[in-house]
Amino acid sequence: MFGLKSRRRNRLRAQAIPAQWSAAIQSNVPYFHLLTPAERVELFGHVQVLLHEKPFEGCGGLVVTDEVRVTIAAQAAILLLGRQTDYYPKLRTILVYPAKYVAEVARPLPGGAVLAGPEARLGEAWYRGAVVLSWDDVLRGAADPSDADNVVFHEFAHQLDSESGANEGAPDLPTREARARWARVFEREFRRLINDLQHARPTLLRPYAASNPAEFFAVATEYFFELPLALRSRHAELYGEMAAYFQQDPARRFLR
Ligand SMILES: [Zn+2]
Repeated sequence: MFGLKSRRRNRLRAQAIPAQWSAAIQSNVPYFHLLTPAERVELFGHVQVLLHEKPFEGCGGLVVTDEVRVTIAAQAAILLLGRQTDYYPKLRTILVYPAKYVAEVARPLPGGAVLAGPEARLGEAWYRGAVVLSWDDVLRGAADPSDADNVVFHEFAHQLDSESGANEGAPDLPTREARARWARVFEREFRRLINDLQHARPTLLRPYAASNPAEFFAVATEYFFELPLALRSRHAELYGEMAAYFQQDPARRFLR
């Protein structure tokens, strides 16, 4: 089974990406231009796999076009560069609204889960295997690759978080030592943020990161990719843990 899946993925990754997809990525996702040529090739491969495996659904009247799908998939793919990945295995569906997402009363998801009531607001569906995005926010988040505000990075970080089996602000880490070190560093940084906010001290990470450990990881992911130099200089250990997990060093991209 795994052999079949990996052969299919290899085949998808080897396909040439349609020119319109590449054009949409280059114009909508400026972060793409920070990547090395090898990373760009890898990203195109990941986009092919994600588009093949993940269903996108338009909601609230939004029509899901290839531009919508590749703009989201390309950003989700940036989080996968340079390491072994199973392509967000917990993710069952990506729901896209045109603008500010309005909660629906109840909405069945593939696999029998139901997205319902007050929990169904933007960005809160991740623990049920859905990513909910508004197209406006996707474009706005992508437009500036260095403002640490990227809703796709944020929501897909929640998906990575869930791969460890719980949504506790830690992704799937390879060893017990790595898990212990991550927990130590993240807990200290999380408490430090809360403490700084309580004392009205200026913080690098935006206050939303203090909501809970899962939001801390999701927000830290936005900073790691988009404001890596600041994160590295002010939160070196946090940066180090994330660089080890993602197997990427985004600070280098911003020094080039
Ligand atoms: Zn979140």
